[in-house]
Amino acid sequence: MSDSAADGGVRDGAGDGTRAVRAGLPEPVKYEPTLPGPVFAAHFHLPGEVTGPYSYGRDDNPTWTHLERAIGELEAPGRSDVETLVFASGMAAISAVLLSQLRAGDTVVLPNDGYQVLPLVRAQLEAYGIEVRTAPTGGDAQLDLLDGAKLLWLETPSNPGLDVCDIRRLVEAAHARGALVAVDNTLATPLGQRPLELGADFSVASGTKQLTGHGDLLLGYVAGTDASAMTAVRRWRKVVGAIPGPMEAWLAHRSIATLQLRVDRQDATALILAEALRGRDEVTELRYPGLPDDPSHRVASRQMRRYGCVVSFTLPTRACAERFLDALRLVDDATSFGGVRSTAERRGRWGGDAVSEGFVRFSVGAEDPEDLVADVLRALDESAR
Ligand SMILES: *Cc1c(COP(=O)(O)O)cnc(C)c1O
Repeated sequence: MSDSAADGGVRDGAGDGTRAVRAGLPEPVKYEPTLPGPVFAAHFHLPGEVTGPYSYGRDDNPTWTHLERAIGELEAPGRSDVETLVFASGMAAISAVLLSQLRAGDTVVLPNDGYQVLPLVRAQLEAYGIEVRTAPTGGDAQLDLLDGAKLLWLETPSNPGLDVCDIRRLVEAAHARGALVAVDNTLATPLGQRPLELGADFSVASGTKQLTGHGDLLLGYVAGTDASAMTAVRRWRKVVGAIPGPMEAWLAHRSIATLQLRVDRQDATALILAEALRGRDEVTELRYPGLPDDPSHRVASRQMRRYGCVVSFTLPTRACAERFLDALRLVDDATSFGGVRSTAERRGRWGGDAVSEGFVRFSVGAEDPEDLVADVLRALDESAR
């Protein structure tokens, strides 16, 4: 019996749906709920010596413990050498890895086409005397920058460009040079890709997106295999206090029960939508890693089990993209992605991403595919006028 089974978790060979509905549940206790409710506590009864896990609410909380086990079971099924820590947001988790592992004089390799906050992160790291090198995700371009690096940061598929890099290949090259590797697994979710199985030292993600999928909370996590590195990440969480509230942690855990249903539905519809968009003249630079002729598909199909719910494409002009977004009835014009309700936005409105004015990032929700595709095609027709 594995450790996770001993905790009331899922057998090693279980399928994704079984794993998702049972992930992180404690052993059943008569008259207790299956998923214990959120524990709201700043401090815990603590007479005498400090021996148990729960003392003060910034250090640990039983609601986090259940959620951390759940995420750990999804990121690394059947492994007991993986530690998972939850954070207040994806950025809190990302910062925790970067700032707990890097010192002045160290070098880190980041993608230059990743999440839009990474340029701000870069400036902060440089202000601390850390050398930052960047290269695009596609074509494994970060490979050429690894000499002397302490940490390699990957984001695959990249947001919003949906380029994919070969995690195994980059991990091998980084480890050969003594560098640790972290993968931002936000877009794929652990049901789409398991970076730790591909050799990465950290799988880091925003739980704000498809992992929890309802657009109602912010969360982040770090799952890692290197015990001493994870000790430093835990210390960082305590020092900075970037902790999730118990209510958010509990809502996240409840939401993970439907993860497999949501990703299967949303990712299947994303492919249907991408195929429908391919037939349109006004749509260019269509990207979805699940499309067999997408530039990302070959590498993605080797390391991903699902291709995500985000489709990106470009309309001829900014005005055209704005008219399109305005004409959609089933799709909210909003940022973020991964929710059960479809959202889309003209990414260029933020600045920061290297995208054209007509670039649209589309997050496919759980609507009926035929309704969604009809709405999108109608909005395209109307915005062409
Ligand atoms: C949203 C996002 C983040 C940041 O997550 P927050 O929960 O918003 O802090 C990091 N990486 C990627 C790829 C994201 O999409």
